Formats: sequence, C-alpha cells, structure tokens
Amino acid sequence: MSYPQEPLPPTAVTSAFARRTAVVTGAAGFIGSHLCERLLDLGAEVIGVDNLLTGRLDNLSGLRSAGGFRFQTDDVTQPFGVVGPVDFVFHLASPASPLDYARHPLATLKVGAMGTLNALELAEAKRARFLLASTSEVYGDPLVHPQPERYWGNVNPVGPRSVYDEAKRYAEALTSCFQRSGGTRTRIVRIFNTYGPRMRADDGRAVPAFIRQALAGEPITVAGDGSQTRSLCFVADTVEGLLAAAAADHTDPVNLGNPHEITMLRLAEEIRALVGSSSAITFVPLPADDPKRRCPDIASARAHLDWEPTTHLRDGLRRTLDWAEKHFPHQATATPGRSTS
Ligand code: NAD
Repeated sequence: MSYPQEPLPPTAVTSAFARRTAVVTGAAGFIGSHLCERLLDLGAEVIGVDNLLTGRLDNLSGLRSAGGFRFQTDDVTQPFGVVGPVDFVFHLASPASPLDYARHPLATLKVGAMGTLNALELAEAKRARFLLASTSEVYGDPLVHPQPERYWGNVNPVGPRSVYDEAKRYAEALTSCFQRSGGTRTRIVRIFNTYGPRMRADDGRAVPAFIRQALAGEPITVAGDGSQTRSLCFVADTVEGLLAAAAADHTDPVNLGNPHEITMLRLAEEIRALVGSSSAITFVPLPADDPKRRCPDIASARAHLDWEPTTHLRDGLRRTLDWAEKHFPHQATATPGRSTS
C-alpha cells in the first residue's frame, strides 16, 4: 500500500529519477520498501537488495510483480553486484530498532562497516551517486538541543547501543572518505525517528509497541517516567527527504526529521485515545543509554533540500493505525514497549 504525498508538480527532485536506475539496499525493510515504491512512482527502475534479516518480502508484495522492479536476495556484507547501469545507490541495509540490533549485534556492526564498503564500491564501479541512510543515533545521548549537523555527539563507544551508533559513525567516515577521494558522489542523511505502516509489531519501537498494546487492551508500557522526548517523522515525509537529498547538490550530512518534540507519555496517551482503548499506562525501567531528548535541527534540510515534513502527527498515527489494524497479530507476542527507537 502506497502513502504518496500530495501530487507534486514536476521539480528537480521528482524528475531526477525518471528513467534512472536505483539500487536500494534494505529494500524489504520498513523505510526501504516505501522508498522503492516512491521511486517506481517517479518512473525509476529499482533493484531491491536485502538478506531479509529484519525485513520481509511481504513489504514488497505490491512491487514484485510491478514492471521496473527487481529483487535480489543478497547479504551486502559480502561483495555483491547488479547487472546493468546504475544511477543511484541508496544504502539503507541495517537493523534499525534497538531490539533488532541487540538481537543482531555483530550483523549490525558488519553491515555498517563491510556492507557500507561494498555498497560504496558498487556505486564507484557504476559511477552512481551514493546515499547513506545514517541516523540521529550518531549524536548518542545529545548534550545540545536541537541537534544541528555540526554537533559531534555524545556516544558511549562500549555501551549496548554502540554496535549501531558506532557502525553508523564508521559508515559516515567511510562515505566521507570516498567523497574526499573524488571518485564517488556521496550524500549522508541522518534520519531521526520515523514511523508509519509496515513497522513490525515486535520491533520494540514506541509507535508500533503502543499501538499493538492499545489494540490488544493490554497495559501500554512507557519507559522511565515517560518525560523523555522523541520527534517523530511520518515515513512518506522521510522518503521525500531521502529523494531530495539524493537529487540535491549539497554534500554535507543533513538531518531528516520532524522538529516537533513529544514526550513518550504524551505519545502513549495520543495513541490510546486514537485507538479508543481503555489500556492502562504503566512504567518500566529505562533501557541503558536511552537518549533523554531527541530533536533535529532541520535548518540545513530546509535551506539546501527545500524539504520539511508536512504530515501532522495525528494524521500519521491514524494512517499507521489503519494499517496495523489489518496487519498486526491479534495476540500479544512483542516485548514490552520501550520508549525509544
Ligand atoms: P528495517 O529493519 O525495517 O530495514 C532494514 C533492512 O535492511 C531490512 O529489510 C533488513 O533485512 C536489511 N538488512 C539488514 N542487514 C542486511 C545485510 N547484511 N544485507 C542485506 N540487507 C540487510 O529498518 P528501517 O527502519 O527501515 O531502517 C532503514 C535504514 O534507515 C537503516 O539503515 C536505519 O539505520 C536507518 N534509520 C531508520 C530510522 C527509523 O526511525 N526507522 C531512524 C534512523 C535511521
């Protein structure tokens, strides 16, 4: 199911992908599958690459029969190739939720390191433009609010989240190295928390966890006292940002996220009201190194990409809920909700 933005007039962004070929690593994942759909809408040929570690072929069910889409089951930590010319490589492959990278710590480090190297080498060989899906986690538990791109972060290099945070920081270093060497045109986007249809009920992130619990009438489990904040960006907005970044001339890292901050307690209350659930809200211990605040400074995205999110939180939650009502298992299987992603 596609969640396109309002129809856009042809712009440099929307016309940049027509009749172009894009490789998307992590295509069977949450954001990757939406990106593939949007690229196809814009007239691109898309080659999706995924090893299905945390993604699902179901996410691509509408696309696999569509013209213009090819899927390869490949682990990008091993050198991989694609047949024919390639104009863009979008490198999204990586476990992304704290629960997933705790389950797959070594695979997370490897995909950030070897996976990024292999994807960069593919882009170099094909003379394609490369985009790294990095993350707000490169800022760790930030001491500066909101976080601008020039902030270098506050990361615990040996904590439980370091397999993800440091893998992405290394991936940024690798990407910058290819850019500086002059051989490859690269882009780095730091994605802040994104939500929407196709998040797994059991991936541990707050939005699907709270929705699942509210639908099941179970207690909604908020970590800590729920005063920690996140800023949540609807997936269609994030995808437009990825496309804008890939099309733009701007080469410095750029934040993509929604600067509207919300506490986890307020989010739980919003979701409970939207579902019309009578679930209680209960509190569980905060995970280690859980950031207390997360809020992007998106001045750079506004200035250089002409991008900002346009989906109101309630609309995005409603669209996510509509999808979850059809796709989430009725019985609880997920780990108690965490306040983070
Ligand atoms: P996801 O887990 O749904 O998707 C990741 C995909 O990568 C999965 O389909 C998985 O099977 C695939 N993958 C993992 N290792 C692989 C490997 N070695 N070879 C091939 N495929 C592999 O996660 P997502 O939320 O869609 O995140 C996509 C990207 O965006 C990730 O790089 C993530 O770090 C980044 N990101 C996401 C968010 C968010 O809020 N969702 C925030 C910041 C950054």
